[in-house]
Amino acid sequence: MNSNIDNIYSFSEEELLCTLLIRENFKDTEISNSFYSMEEILSAILYKYLEKYEKCDLTEEELINWLKKNSRYNLLTDLIKNEIKKLLFPQEINGKIVDTTDEFVYTNLEALLEIMKDELFYNIEFEKNYNPKKVKKLPSLNEQDFDIYIKSFLKIVDPSSEWQEIYEKALKNGNIIFTAKDDLETKKKIFEKFSLKQYGFKVEDFRWNCFFSYNEEPYIIIERNYDIGDFCSFIHEFSHFLQSINKNDNKIPPILREYTSTFYELVSIDFLKALGYENNVLDKLLHKRAHNTYEAGIDTIMIFNFMKKVLTTGKITAKEEIETASKVVKLNENLEKKEKEKIQMTNPYYFDATKYSEQNCDYVISCLLKDTDDFNRKYPYVLGSYLAHATLNKVKNADLSFEEIKYLMENLASIDTYDIFKLIGFDVKQLKLKKVKN
Ligand SMILES: [Zn+2]
Repeated sequence: MNSNIDNIYSFSEEELLCTLLIRENFKDTEISNSFYSMEEILSAILYKYLEKYEKCDLTEEELINWLKKNSRYNLLTDLIKNEIKKLLFPQEINGKIVDTTDEFVYTNLEALLEIMKDELFYNIEFEKNYNPKKVKKLPSLNEQDFDIYIKSFLKIVDPSSEWQEIYEKALKNGNIIFTAKDDLETKKKIFEKFSLKQYGFKVEDFRWNCFFSYNEEPYIIIERNYDIGDFCSFIHEFSHFLQSINKNDNKIPPILREYTSTFYELVSIDFLKALGYENNVLDKLLHKRAHNTYEAGIDTIMIFNFMKKVLTTGKITAKEEIETASKVVKLNENLEKKEKEKIQMTNPYYFDATKYSEQNCDYVISCLLKDTDDFNRKYPYVLGSYLAHATLNKVKNADLSFEEIKYLMENLASIDTYDIFKLIGFDVKQLKLKKVKN
């Protein structure tokens, strides 16, 4: 390869610049949600430097190969550093300062990585053992029963009736909005009324079971299927609603955002069990939650792994990555012939350490570039699920009461995350968690 290319590109700073340029260029475009391959990203870099590119007598393919060889791990390091920064410093999203500061996560990143892996494996097991054929359709639930279920459920988790009053008031004031699955017209109206586009949503891929706050006023949108799934989804979103009417809502650490909503969703499934719904039906509802956690966790685990490397060694190097990958390759090579063939069919890179490592690297780069807020949005689901399962066990063993959890939920913003782990009954020493010093 032509040695004068090294003079054309001095990479470390330029990579970062390119990254920023790509992000800027793709941010508001129609294709901003589509997936970029490393090829596309590097082509975009090349395009920006076309003038320089024309000066050297290499083909685009040769130049892309050169870029990959010399820059992919540096580019990954820069992007990961950026993700760490996002965990620590306040972010500006759509001109609004969003406080994502989470020193607890930063201080305990390594310990949390292990916790996330545990939670992810738990959900992978669930996914593996789940048979979707057992229940095709969830039992139906009409409008009247939906309301009765919610009120009886709220009476159990909050005997003071405070939450039921909040629910009734929200219904009366139009803060709970129902849509039907195929009612695109109503959805478009909601979309325009609340300018949901500003949150980066698109009407066709907007999740219609959601909570959002518009001009500080909280709303819940529920897409009705008229089955018992509506009830569990509603309980999840209503928990966010309750979090938000707490004055300090914007200070709830992101790590705890999905904690109580996942917890109450799990309790709502238990509630259905008490009503006599069969196990297969309950499994379908539990699977929906487990699947979401699994989906959110797969990418985040890789990102957390790279974060750990950057935190401990300062950067991600090709040599170390390939060394780590060679351990995986060795494991794959020791598999039985049948298993080996199966893997070979899905991905031949699993038997080549260099290619395996490069593929992981390129994949994470693409993930981080295609959606700049993806990681911040996803990781709370995995940790939230972990805390929710533990809390549910405590409740089942009568070690925690619904009253205590209600208190916890209403004070998420002011209780130290470390103390929450302790309250739920975790052995913080065994988990290697450290309290954040103020
Ligand atoms: Zn949620």
